[in-house]
Amino acid sequence: VKCSACEARLPAYLDNDCSPREAEAVAQHLASCAACRAQTERLRAVESQLARMRGIEPHADFTLAVMARVAAMPAPAKQGVRPWLLLVYVPAAWAALFALFATRVLSWQGVTTGSSVFAGKLGVAGQALYHVGQHFNVASMVTSGAALEIALLALAIAVARIYIGHLPGWASGARA
Ligand SMILES: [Zn+2]
Repeated sequence: VKCSACEARLPAYLDNDCSPREAEAVAQHLASCAACRAQTERLRAVESQLARMRGIEPHADFTLAVMARVAAMPAPAKQGVRPWLLLVYVPAAWAALFALFATRVLSWQGVTTGSSVFAGKLGVAGQALYHVGQHFNVASMVTSGAALEIALLALAIAVARIYIGHLPGWASGARA
């Protein structure tokens, strides 16, 4: 038996957890190898120390004490709504959109075609929402909200079409 094989079997050997043949092989190696005998002593020492350890039990009121400390900690400050973020976001989004058109990553024809499909889906979703609203007697509120949204959307599309129509070909993404 080599040292590596002996070392691998040592824990089982010390626990009397290996076959008689293996135990015999380990015992023979230990008789002739001082290094592995020293290793055996170290393992025995660790095992006897582990056997003397006791489990650590927390205080009876440990959970209560922790929760009391948590309750005493300062609450994190609430994040207020920051409207100026919107003022930054909207121009940034438009700038990004324009850059995409200018670099022809997007073509506005594709976007308007896509948006009419989207509008169709929106109509179906709107109808479903209307029926839900009707059920809860808030139909008029839902309708006026949706009408406002649709009016704003239509205005945005109309403005975008006129504006994009006046752009030079390279910017509108039109292909020659
Ligand atoms: Zn050895």
